Amino acid sequence: MAAQQTYRLFEVALKARHVLSPSLVRMVFSGAEVMHMKTDGPDQRIKVFFPLPGQAVPQVPSGEDWYARYRALADDQRPPMRTYTIRQLRAAQGEVDVDFVLHGETGPASYWATRAVPGDRVLLLAPDAQVDAHSQGCEWQPPAGVGQILLVADETALPAVAGILEELAARPQAPRTLALLEVAQAADALALRAPADAEVVWLPREGAGHGQRLLQAVQARLAPAALGAAGGDVLEDVDVDTQILWELADAAGPLYAWVAGEAGAVMAIRRYLVQSCGLDRRAITFMGYWRQGRVLD
Ligand SMILES: Cc1cc2nc3c(=O)[nH]c(=O)nc-3n(C[C@H](O)[C@H](O)[C@H](O)COP(=O)(O)OP(=O)(O)OC[C@H]3O[C@@H](n4cnc5c(N)ncnc54)[C@H](O)[C@@H]3O)c2cc1C
Repeated sequence: MAAQQTYRLFEVALKARHVLSPSLVRMVFSGAEVMHMKTDGPDQRIKVFFPLPGQAVPQVPSGEDWYARYRALADDQRPPMRTYTIRQLRAAQGEVDVDFVLHGETGPASYWATRAVPGDRVLLLAPDAQVDAHSQGCEWQPPAGVGQILLVADETALPAVAGILEELAARPQAPRTLALLEVAQAADALALRAPADAEVVWLPREGAGHGQRLLQAVQARLAPAALGAAGGDVLEDVDVDTQILWELADAAGPLYAWVAGEAGAVMAIRRYLVQSCGLDRRAITFMGYWRQGRVLD
């Protein structure tokens, strides 16, 4: 029996484009069908399909086997698809916000986001509210009663972290939270709603390599000696140039960490937290959201 499809395609138009900072823009998409979209968590991932030159709407096959037929299209006929996060869904108003990092015109998504104007149309592959099953498209799953949360992210995961901090702020008692957030420049720091005692540390790269400031901050904040660890599991590296780094926490510990960003940086942080600090890898979610020099769709 075919697996139940928890995601479906939504055709939407850009309603508004808000500049949040020099590197981040918020796209407010609207469409009649968005009333049937849902999100299962603050890091709910979706796919965005962009039109090819000459297309007003990306031409993506329909029907049950649409995805296989989409993959089978010739390269120059296949509208590009990239992964994004639902920043906020207002289903009743038929609106959904997605925050895009502008990293130049090197990729179809960033190219589109740089030039998009209201009325431009894209397709979103997003969770279907008419299906009860969990979409399985979000990884923020802190164990109940966890005492300490560590969030480590670059700007591509900032929309998810912003939602996570909002969710924590809404709790009557939030765990002690440290968020280390790397952005391109100081002006990319956003006002975030977070628990009153959460520590949110902005790490502007200001020309440094992607992930360098994050790794340094993790090393400065979590010293192996402070954790009393002689050294943890020896990990095999993931070849982030040929594989996707995607490891999900599956055990409860005193600390839950959620780490997302450039895959090489996430791997270096993984090595440090698990091997040098001795943290339990089963309590940490590591996700390579993108890989420098590589296209992931
Ligand atoms: C679960 C998940 C959720 C995500 N959520 C978001 C989100 O909400 N907002 C968001 O902006 N991104 C998000 N991303 C990251 C986004 O999918 C990638 O950045 C994607 O590569 C952008 O596509 P593109 O067409 O612009 O560039 P691509 O065509 O994919 O890549 C072209 C070149 O640009 C480089 N590149 C890609 N992204 C960046 C970057 N951020 N900075 C510098 N160089 C880059 C690539 O390494 C490549 O060399 C998410 C990724 C995942 C896996």
